[in-house]
Amino acid sequence: MLTGRCECGQVSFEVEEDSIRETVTACHCSQCRRLSGHVWASTHAPMNKVTFTCEEGLTWYQSSSWARRGFCRFCGSNLFYQENDEDGIGISAGCLDQTTDLRLAKHIFVADKGDYYALDDNLPHYEAGTAPKPG
Ligand SMILES: [Zn+2]
Ligand SMILES: [Zn+2]
Repeated sequence: MLTGRCECGQVSFEVEEDSIRETVTACHCSQCRRLSGHVWASTHAPMNKVTFTCEEGLTWYQSSSWARRGFCRFCGSNLFYQENDEDGIGISAGCLDQTTDLRLAKHIFVADKGDYYALDDNLPHYEAGTAPKPG
């Protein structure tokens, strides 16, 4: 079981380790940049493999007509991304507690990236998302 939490601990959760996607996606879209302060790096898991062990601070922000973002209303940690009626959930890679087998695997929405940093790794870059809807 992997565990994760916000900075203050008022949102915490467990994810079945073998159900979590082992790849991490860095999203450079303007929403992710504003919400995270830089780039939002996330993994993904089926919703039914995620258990919230504390939801005290969990608050959802409808960030577009097709998706919402989960954050902690006490400490402001930016934790989740979920499309409407999605049976999965995007999870911030930075909020996981353990050493994981996760690896950064791609950059998306690089057309929207900030001009103050370079992307100089050899990972795949996508101008927009790799899914039908942005994330
Ligand atoms: Zn918190
Ligand atoms: Zn994004």
